[in-house]
Amino acid sequence: MARSVRLEPSRTLGEFRLLCGLTTRDSTQDRIDLRSPLFSDRPGSRAFVLNTPVLAAAMQAVSGPAMGIEMARLGGAAVLFCSQNALDEAKMVRTVKNHRAGFVEPRTVAPSLALGALHALHRETGFSNFPVVDPTGRFLGMIGRRDYDMLAHASLAVSERMIPRDRLDVGVEVTDLPTAHRLLVDGHQAVLPIVDREDRLLYLVFRKDIQDHFDNPAQVVDEEGRLLCLAAINTLDYEERAPALVEAGADALVIDSSDGHSVFQAETLEWIAARWPDLPVMGGNIITEEGFRFLVAHGARAVKVGMGSGSICITQEQKGTGRGLATAIMEVAAAREQHRKTTGVHIPIVADGGLVTGRDVVTALALGADAVMMGRYLARMEESPTEKVQVGNRIMKPYWGEGSARARDWKAARYAQTAFVEGVEGLVEYAGRLRDELPRMLAKIRAAMASAGCATLRDLHELAELELVSALSIREGKVHDIYTAHGDGELPDREE
Ligand code: IMP
Repeated sequence: MARSVRLEPSRTLGEFRLLCGLTTRDSTQDRIDLRSPLFSDRPGSRAFVLNTPVLAAAMQAVSGPAMGIEMARLGGAAVLFCSQNALDEAKMVRTVKNHRAGFVEPRTVAPSLALGALHALHRETGFSNFPVVDPTGRFLGMIGRRDYDMLAHASLAVSERMIPRDRLDVGVEVTDLPTAHRLLVDGHQAVLPIVDREDRLLYLVFRKDIQDHFDNPAQVVDEEGRLLCLAAINTLDYEERAPALVEAGADALVIDSSDGHSVFQAETLEWIAARWPDLPVMGGNIITEEGFRFLVAHGARAVKVGMGSGSICITQEQKGTGRGLATAIMEVAAAREQHRKTTGVHIPIVADGGLVTGRDVVTALALGADAVMMGRYLARMEESPTEKVQVGNRIMKPYWGEGSARARDWKAARYAQTAFVEGVEGLVEYAGRLRDELPRMLAKIRAAMASAGCATLRDLHELAELELVSALSIREGKVHDIYTAHGDGELPDREE
């Protein structure tokens, strides 16, 4: 006989509905605050707060650099996939981190540098402007592509063609973008150098980046104003992969595994903590309180919950393992509350696999998740790394599981393969740009929270009331007993 046989069936998100609570003036849709912690707090380490509690899944068909940039600009983040070689993944991290979003740490040049060498630097870095500093870091001027001519000036030094400090507007210890913007506009400049009181150069602020920032007020950035970038690792090659990703600038690592309750994941967490104690790491996936305690005891600062529920997933069918996502979230959230009571530390939970609509997301959040991870939903967007295909009169994008034969190809040469696959490959309907689609889903989440009288995700965790609904009740909640133009209603019951 097994250690335990649970006779209560496990539940999934679609079986629950939120009950209404009192909507107050503070919990109307326009005042809902969706901010959510991504990692547990730890002194000296960034925990990051998402403005949109959504992560893009670490999958080949979902999270490349374009998704990484757009998700972070819209307040969430993508987890770059690790089913590729480490250097390619590190290159993706660099692309996301180099997307400038405000205050940028400058690449400087010396006044004595020959303009011929500067020209090569322009080409190598793609940067148009370089600040010029002396050996102590004091700001001397700016030099850009338009300030010199290679035919006439190749052998001159930077100092002979730069625009000197006294002809430029600089910001002294400016730390906010609106002030930087005003100085840029007043000074008719494209770039604003920010210096300290000793005139040492601190940052550059680019006018086009400021516009980007104003266009994306929810974007999540690091302390240097660069977009948040999460990267996946696995338990096979982390000793090679993690250093490459950290070196490239990844803000945090996410261990990608369908079953994270393993000694291999504990070893991975400990290996990373020994090298980078302040680097946040998310463990998972787990579906039990035992799994939660195990990963947290070994240093995970967030956990991903879910097994067998993903749209492309055949783990339940193949191995008979898995759990309804709602039950998994509830059990892990209860363990998390216990952990918080005893330690005072909140470990964020990310619900992963099978979330289809805003309704599923708000249910997962109400059951205790701090954020959700989505694959299928995001694979449909312009920013996913796949090509559109025309099927009849519909535009589709391919979507495949990380456990499918297609995704496993990358490691076939290095690692033993299991004898069966755990994921499938298919098509999803193209849905356009993420920035047009995501707000629609977030609006539904806000509307549900307003109805439940919850202004924040914390309120949702503490105040929301959910109810299990019957199959008949789910039917009643859909269009029924009428004919619609789309043919989406169930046929009317015949009247006697
Ligand atoms: P979706 O949002 O329902 O498409 O689920 C995406 C999630 O499914 C991912 O974040 C993974 O946790 C999981 N997943 C990805 N690939 C596979 C696979 O091949 N088999 C099983 N689960 C997978």
